[in-house]
Amino acid sequence: MNDNFPTQSNGHAGLQLPDHDPGYYYDRTITAGQHGEIKLSPVVESACTCGGVIPFQLMGDDGEPHWCECRPYRMRISRIERLIANAQIPNRFRYKFLEDFDETSNGQPVPDIVKLKGMLSSTADSILQGKTTKGFFLWGTPGTGKTFFAYIALNYLIYRTLQAGKFAGISSQFFQRIRDTFNEDSAQRGQGTTILESLSNVPYLVLDDFGVQGNTDWELETLYNLIDARYAKGRVTILTSNNSVHDLKDLASGRLYSRFVEMCNLVHLNAEDYREKGKREVEINIPTVDRPQGRSYGSH
Ligand SMILES: [Zn+2]
Repeated sequence: MNDNFPTQSNGHAGLQLPDHDPGYYYDRTITAGQHGEIKLSPVVESACTCGGVIPFQLMGDDGEPHWCECRPYRMRISRIERLIANAQIPNRFRYKFLEDFDETSNGQPVPDIVKLKGMLSSTADSILQGKTTKGFFLWGTPGTGKTFFAYIALNYLIYRTLQAGKFAGISSQFFQRIRDTFNEDSAQRGQGTTILESLSNVPYLVLDDFGVQGNTDWELETLYNLIDARYAKGRVTILTSNNSVHDLKDLASGRLYSRFVEMCNLVHLNAEDYREKGKREVEINIPTVDRPQGRSYGSH
């Protein structure tokens, strides 16, 4: 039996779930440490007769053990918990979801943030349906909530789709870890392929704080190869940057920019006045972004 995917039919269980009910939900009122808890949705809970005791079996009238109706859903919940624990999301940002992203300014909803949240939710739907692999390129000045939104997106995509994700900050340590794996004296020697392979394979990857400045050619090439491998495999990538996507045009001969445009919804979070005046704006899918390749510029 395959319990991996939440949208598949309920198999033997035959539970009729309401539309949009995957059989579990996040209950933020219960505090398990720094976050809430994923629970069985009411329909599944009321169908459960095993009391949640592992291995979720019951003795049938025929004297044979049968799986309880709750079992596939309980297994999905523990899978989500395991995936979120292993996603390298700092503790206090685990189980942050769309509700946690402030969409009001002085008590008024900010329309484009509402739109951005809707976009994440519909992106997750499309990913589930196999219709898209487009992630997000979020850029804006520090303090706009880009990284926070990236955490939310990662938690949410894992929660909705039960696929693995990883968060990685693009820091000097990030490159050093990869570099060490090529160093003969390092304990990590030989793991370079492993680290890069796992980053290029993981279904969802956040690359936080992508910058224009200070990257060596080797670092840019490493990043490009990673991004390109994810592109080829149709993996969903979420990037954050303090730099405008336009500023990236010259990096790695424009190849990174080209990939970002192909792979991401471009989102500008503008918070010039956010901290002072509580003003925050979001610009989505900026139409003026041009593609550096494959475009005809008319007559010559
Ligand atoms: Zn049960």
